[in-house]
Amino acid sequence: MILIVDDKSENLIALKKILETHNFSVDTALSGEEALRKILKYAYKLIILDVQMPGMDGFEVAEAIVGYSKTKDIPIIFLSAVKINKQFISKGYASGGRDYLVKPIDPDILVLKIRTFIKLYEQTDELNRIQAALLEEIEYRKEAESKKDEFISIASHELNTPLTSVKGYLQLAEKSFEKDNKPHTRMYLDRTKTQLNKLNQLVADLLNTSKIISGSLEYHFKEFDFEPFVDSAIDIIQQSYPGKHIIKTGLADVKIQGDPLRLEQVVLNYLTNAIKYSPDSNDIFVEVAVLPANKVTLRVRDKGIGIPKEKQDQLFDKFYRVEESSNRFQGLGMGLYICAEIIRRHGGTFGVESEPGHGATFYFTVPSHKEKLQ
Ligand code: ADP
Repeated sequence: MILIVDDKSENLIALKKILETHNFSVDTALSGEEALRKILKYAYKLIILDVQMPGMDGFEVAEAIVGYSKTKDIPIIFLSAVKINKQFISKGYASGGRDYLVKPIDPDILVLKIRTFIKLYEQTDELNRIQAALLEEIEYRKEAESKKDEFISIASHELNTPLTSVKGYLQLAEKSFEKDNKPHTRMYLDRTKTQLNKLNQLVADLLNTSKIISGSLEYHFKEFDFEPFVDSAIDIIQQSYPGKHIIKTGLADVKIQGDPLRLEQVVLNYLTNAIKYSPDSNDIFVEVAVLPANKVTLRVRDKGIGIPKEKQDQLFDKFYRVEESSNRFQGLGMGLYICAEIIRRHGGTFGVESEPGHGATFYFTVPSHKEKLQ
C-alpha cells in the first residue's frame, strides 16, 4: 500500500485516482502527524510526501520515519510546487527522501518511479529477511557446537572414571593374586566387574542415543505377558543391589504387544535411577495396575532427593540433568530420553510426580490390547 501525505484534499484525491488507475492500493493522510500515526500502525511500501504542510513539514516527517527502525527503509518521494531550488532538494535527500519531484508531475514518470522504488524496497526487505534468518542459523550452529563440546567433555569424564577404577582394581587384584590372597583377589575382581558394567551401560546408552537420533533403533514387537516381564526386571535389579528392598504391589495380568527387551530397558532404568537418587533409603516400590480402556501402567516410587517442579518437564529431554544434583550423582542424562523414545514407540505415555526431598515416582502407561502396533 502507498501512503500519500498532503494537507490539500484536492491534491490527495487527484493523485489517489492516478495511482488507483494503475492498480496501486492507496491510503491518505492530511497532515504529517496523521501520517506518522498511520505509518506506525500499517505497513506501507512507499510514501509520497508533500513538502509544505502546516504543523510538521515533509522534511520533519521524513526524518521521523527514517528514525524508526521499523520504517527506516520505506522509500519516500517528496512532491513540491514551491520549494524547488537546489537547497530544498538537497534537504529533501538529506532528510531521507529517495526522490524529489516538482509539480506539476508527469503521471507516467511518477508511476514508473513508484514501481522501481517499490521493487527496490521489496528486494531490500527480502535481503533483510534472509540476513536475519542466516544470523539466526549461525547463532543456532554456534550454540549446537558449544553444547557438543560440553557433552564431549562430560562424556569423556564419565567414561574415564570407571576406566581408571578398572585399572586400579586390576593392579590390586594382581598384587593379591601374587600374595596368594584369594578373598582379596575375588573382591577386587568383583569391583572390576561392577565398573566394567557401568562402562558397558554408558557405551550402550551412547549407542542407543545415536541410533535414536539417526532413526535406526531397532524394535522387535511380539505379544508377551506383562506380569512375569515385570517380575523378571525386578529380579535383575534385586540381584545387582541385594541390600535394597524392591517391593511390588498390584497385579497386571494382561498381555501386551511390544518389544520386551526395549521395555525392560525402561523398567531397569526407572529402577536404577530410583536407587541412585535415593542414597539414604533402601525401599523402592513398584506398582502395576490395569487401567480402563485397555491400558496397563507401571510406577516406580522412591524416597529419594526428588525433583523441583520447574525441572520436571525437561527430565525426559536428551542430555538433561538436574543441575542441583549433577555434581553429586554421575550420569550423562541419556537414560530417561531413551525411555521416552521407547514408550512413545509403544504408543504409550510417561511422566513423573515428585516433591523435592520427598522422593519421586516415574511411571509409564502402554496399551494392553492385542492389535499389532507396527
Ligand atoms: P542420568 O541419571 O544419567 O543423569 P537420566 O536421563 O536417567 O540420566 O535422568 C535425567 C535426570 O533426571 C537425572 O540427572 C536426575 O537429575 C533426574 N532423575 C532421574 N531419576 C530420578 C529420581 N528417581 N529421583 C530424582 N531425580 C531423578
